[in-house]
Amino acid sequence: MRYKKGIVIFLGLLLMVGIVPVQASTTEVIINEDNLNLRTGPGTNYERIGQVNAGERYLIKDQQGNWIQIQLDGYTAWVSSDYVSIQGEVSTGVEVNEQQTITITHDKTQIRNGPSTDYDIVHFAKAGEKITVIDKEGNWLKVKLNDGEGYVLKDLVEKKTESASQGLKGKKIVIDPGHGGNDSGAISAGEVLEKDITYKTAEVLAQELTMLGAEVLITRDQETFATLSSRATLSNVTRADAFISLHYNSVPNLPDATGISTYYYHEQYESLATFIQQEMIKESNDRDRGVGFGDFQVIRQNLMPAVLIELGFISNPEIDQLLATNAYQKKLVTGIVNGLQRYYATQK
Ligand SMILES: [Zn+2]
Repeated sequence: MRYKKGIVIFLGLLLMVGIVPVQASTTEVIINEDNLNLRTGPGTNYERIGQVNAGERYLIKDQQGNWIQIQLDGYTAWVSSDYVSIQGEVSTGVEVNEQQTITITHDKTQIRNGPSTDYDIVHFAKAGEKITVIDKEGNWLKVKLNDGEGYVLKDLVEKKTESASQGLKGKKIVIDPGHGGNDSGAISAGEVLEKDITYKTAEVLAQELTMLGAEVLITRDQETFATLSSRATLSNVTRADAFISLHYNSVPNLPDATGISTYYYHEQYESLATFIQQEMIKESNDRDRGVGFGDFQVIRQNLMPAVLIELGFISNPEIDQLLATNAYQKKLVTGIVNGLQRYYATQK
């Protein structure tokens, strides 16, 4: 019996080791001073367990106030952030579509079979239609159509895209798909896991924001779990312009319950929550459950403009079905994007 138990524990450990190693949020520090003390906790009152030297690089595991937890050979320790610089790109674990997509702004936009008005019209695009750009030729964009390719005059499509994207260009947005790994979150009416729905929404949001010129970071990849503090840390160490945590509500014994709510922790970010909430309601037509103070760790430990959104009740079969559609996911995402744009417009 004892022997068996040992094996089970050993296998369990192997499994954990197999699942945990690559966290979505990996950023590096470079040590700036020789003989910088390593401590067992985030403060000078913690025991000193060694030193590191200028020029050395370590992965960041966590951050608390002015202290950064770093990964050493087989153990972690804390260093004061005053003597290090934070470096490097953060790997998001999510592939963001590099292809440029344009949104048609006018009904009956002419698409021709060559890059001038001498060519025949092969398609009339509708307002709102999204088209992939393959190439540019002078004032014309070569685009992909359902049945082949075509050309559209740049001026006909680009003006609106530019003005709309202004506010998000270069902004660093951290998207936090709630739950993940062993933490499934709630279960929907159709038995889909909250962690999978939040991830789906995160992907759609990431694509939309990237298209508008934002730099997007995601706190976890599709399969792994990330601790709540590592999620906030990613936002803090990268000095994000916004942190958006995505969640879905569930009250299985009240299947009619519906609506969206947005939470802030630090008062100065109430306006961000309000803009996002208003725009999401406008786009989705779901019930407005309002904006409120929420004591959630990911936004409490966040020093950057941070909100947590409950995007709908997955225990409601109707909402659950809508969420499985791209069209509804896009509506929610458009609401978030428009809310961010309104927020940045007020920050100038
Ligand atoms: Zn949740």
